[in-house]
Amino acid sequence: MDLQRHDFQLSELVEKIKKNDNRLVALQVPEGLKMQALEMMDKIEADSEAKVILAADPCYGACDLVHDKMKMMGVELVAHMGHSQMNIDSGMPTHFIPVTYDGDPEIEPVIEILLKHKAMAEHRLMEIENDINPVITENEGKARFLDAVGRITPLKGNKLGLVGSIQHLHLLEEYKERIEKIGFEVVIPVGGERLTLPGQVLGCNYSGDRDDIGHYLFLGSGDFHPIGLVMHTGKPLALLDPYNGEASEMSLQRIERILRQRFGLIMAVDKSNSFGILIGEKPGQMRRNLAIRMKRLLEKHNKKGYLLALDHVSPDLIDFYPVDAFVNTACPRIAIDDSVRYAKPLITPFELEVALGEKKWESGYQFDEIP
Ligand code: SF4
Repeated sequence: MDLQRHDFQLSELVEKIKKNDNRLVALQVPEGLKMQALEMMDKIEADSEAKVILAADPCYGACDLVHDKMKMMGVELVAHMGHSQMNIDSGMPTHFIPVTYDGDPEIEPVIEILLKHKAMAEHRLMEIENDINPVITENEGKARFLDAVGRITPLKGNKLGLVGSIQHLHLLEEYKERIEKIGFEVVIPVGGERLTLPGQVLGCNYSGDRDDIGHYLFLGSGDFHPIGLVMHTGKPLALLDPYNGEASEMSLQRIERILRQRFGLIMAVDKSNSFGILIGEKPGQMRRNLAIRMKRLLEKHNKKGYLLALDHVSPDLIDFYPVDAFVNTACPRIAIDDSVRYAKPLITPFELEVALGEKKWESGYQFDEIP
């Protein structure tokens, strides 16, 4: 990561510490910035009267704000870096430190992909218009479940949705103008309460998606957000990486491989009788009500569900329980991205509902979103 080109914006934090006269502050930084954390601690301590404790456990999102343990240590303020405020209250005063990257890639390399995806969206619109018999058989429903794009209707437009990861969101308005100049209609989608900024997406929330968006462009790097976006929306996605200027697209074969794996896991739990239901203890992952609903659903089908609460979820912490399978209500990406690491099937709540026959295959795959 080119740190010289990142802006960490520590000055606002220092001002706040001075204004509040805070003496003990906890600093929480994403995994990719941990190497620089000590330097940041030196800077905050040099510029203020506060002592800084690094919250050194892994942190992958604003869902994972440090809370009661830091309170017990006497921490007065949590400084959380690289993520934005969510619709959660950790019970601790928290200051979010924005991180922005100044990369400004050319749009030229991605235009061809955008044109191809726009044509795909137009083709889908035509198919929807001509679909005079929307009732489909169970086998057709299963095929639709495995379709990476085109599984979710209604689609009402072919606009380009412009989204990004948080350190690149400041680029979106300017990119919207640039892309509109070459003839695309562009929308920067505004999501629900879990998202703070226009065009923002999280690995567990793509709530800005709209019916008039037919395809997407993501400004960012890596495939974590792109995989979730295509699984959630069923729409083609182009990628432009501000770190190296490279353009690519999310492979639909890859998404279909994941969907096939999800299909296999649903079939695998068909005869399972006992389930561990995982509840995340992190403030922004805790879905207790959903977990209890899953337990009741299992009881309705004469199956057993055990509620298991964890802060971190990993194979060595759950594999040994004598149950047939697990349903995950913590971070949705644990089931989607990591299920091969677990000895027993690890499925999402939607997938359990399909396995129990409560939800039908016909509507296609439904991504497990935290609203
Ligand atoms: S994807 Fe998981 S880690 Fe990321 S914000 Fe959502 S719940 Fe947190």
